[in-house]
Amino acid sequence: MYRTNTCGELTLKNKGQEVTLCGWLQRSRDLGGMTFIDLRDRYGITQLAFNMETNPELCEKARKLGREYVLQAKGTVIERASKNSKIPTGEIEIEVHELNILNKSKNPPFTIEDKSDGGDDLRMRYRYLDIRRNPVRRNLELRHRMAMLVRNYLSGKDFLEIETPMLIKSTPEGARDFVVPSRMNPGEFYALPQSPQQYKQLLMVAGMDRYFQIVRCFRDEDLRADRQPEFTQIDCEMSFVHQEDVLNMFEGLAKHLFHEVKGLDFDKFPRITWHDAMRRYGSDKPDIRFGMEFVELNDVAKGNGFALFDNAELVVGICAKGCAEYTRKQLDALTDFVKRPQVGAGGLVYIKYNSDGTFKSSIDKFFSQEQQKAVADRFGAEPGDLMLILCGPAMKTRMQLCALRLEMGDQLGLRNPDVYAPLWVIDFPLLEWDEETQRYYAMHHPFTSPKPEDQSLLDDESRWGDIRADAYDIVINGVEVGGGSIRIHDRELQNKMFHTLGFTDEKAYEQFGFLMDAFTYGAPPHAGLAFGFDRLCSLFGGADSIRDFIAFPKNNSGRDVMSGSPAPISQEQLDELMIDVKQTAKQ
Ligand code: ASP
Repeated sequence: MYRTNTCGELTLKNKGQEVTLCGWLQRSRDLGGMTFIDLRDRYGITQLAFNMETNPELCEKARKLGREYVLQAKGTVIERASKNSKIPTGEIEIEVHELNILNKSKNPPFTIEDKSDGGDDLRMRYRYLDIRRNPVRRNLELRHRMAMLVRNYLSGKDFLEIETPMLIKSTPEGARDFVVPSRMNPGEFYALPQSPQQYKQLLMVAGMDRYFQIVRCFRDEDLRADRQPEFTQIDCEMSFVHQEDVLNMFEGLAKHLFHEVKGLDFDKFPRITWHDAMRRYGSDKPDIRFGMEFVELNDVAKGNGFALFDNAELVVGICAKGCAEYTRKQLDALTDFVKRPQVGAGGLVYIKYNSDGTFKSSIDKFFSQEQQKAVADRFGAEPGDLMLILCGPAMKTRMQLCALRLEMGDQLGLRNPDVYAPLWVIDFPLLEWDEETQRYYAMHHPFTSPKPEDQSLLDDESRWGDIRADAYDIVINGVEVGGGSIRIHDRELQNKMFHTLGFTDEKAYEQFGFLMDAFTYGAPPHAGLAFGFDRLCSLFGGADSIRDFIAFPKNNSGRDVMSGSPAPISQEQLDELMIDVKQTAKQ
């Protein structure tokens, strides 16, 4: 037997037992008469003790071992003289009488302890050593636990986990595909799935009724912070459901996870329409852990001779409670914040509601005390509050104010990672105008159904931007953790949608013919949703980065620095695939 126990389970209850443990040498301490080794495995750390007096030979051997050596130790569980209350095995140690070196190790490039001295790059290059550290191991354990909870929950609701292909057909909608050349069909390519969207809809046509899959997806996007080219979704689809059924089902799943993992219970998640979310928070993924909602000021702000306000489409602000004491320096810093290119505002107007009831603002020249009071009343402000106001084109200004609101939330400590505020954002627009290509794109994807009451607007091109979709996102703490929609199950409507997106009949059929054909054979009404699993894990784990919850993530340029991918392939491989790299590079 390699081992009788793990390094995390022996306590005083096992006192006197003969045991065999295996693990890695985390640390050794040579105290002259005694040598101690912390032996680590996935389950914990157990102290090995070697006595110079009673077993000098073995003690000598133990002293020579380096960090991360793989060891097997046989010995007796004894009570420790100096106990460590911080770890479960801290009251015992093993008096070792046999020690086998199972493998040696080079000195690791960084310390394998909770607080490592390794930078990001180094840790990623030696990720297998990084994973030996508790914080990373714990993240992967959490991920496993959440995957099991999801599987059991959905299976209990009659969902079947069905695998869909990884080598599929490339489609031009959505993000860019990763493509894979086909050796047997020279000049032809597969794509890796951006999501199993079409397959899960086909499974509904196939009568599977409820499907889910914890599935890898691939998107060849320019990597913004914390995006991975491959990521995992909890992908789901259901037949014969209304939006209400879908929201309730997956709200149930989210609540189950909160209950099991965090011990938190929630009432019904609030719902807000996309339109209201944009007006009240300037974001389709509002962080509602705190209020500070937008207040629109056009009627009280315009007409006082302040040209910036007068000429703006929208004057809108937030009220920061108790911040009237902000110094010049703090206000300047906020102005700099909104002027940063990432935010892009021209400037920031402030009004301080002093504790004596007077006002001090950056627009004193234009706004009398009474006029400032009128603005303050609109905010519901009280003495001691600070009002921060932006103006300009409506949508742009809202997004800028959103950035400022989140910044103020951070500054005031209102975004506590231990507090969770989930909500649904519903009624997204169906279509989104793209300036560059001068056409509409599906905001969610081309299979999303318009709201029945808005369907007739598809016939009036001038109204396309107003059409609302039966599409919904689940948002937690300002993070979009999932989204989905009611699907179009009617071939005629799907055709219309493709036309709206600028497809000719031929082009649509070329791309999506198999789905359109399937829809002529009795497609049931269906709907679905996908959660971003990596993000969900990072949120529950209280960390910002999804990378911490992926065993082998890519870096910000999409590279796996450990294996060194992507990498060139041999000329033989290229020839076999009939790919001329020089030719391709030129194009
Ligand atoms: N396939 C969609 C996505 O990846 C989710 C869905 O509509 O179910 O975002």
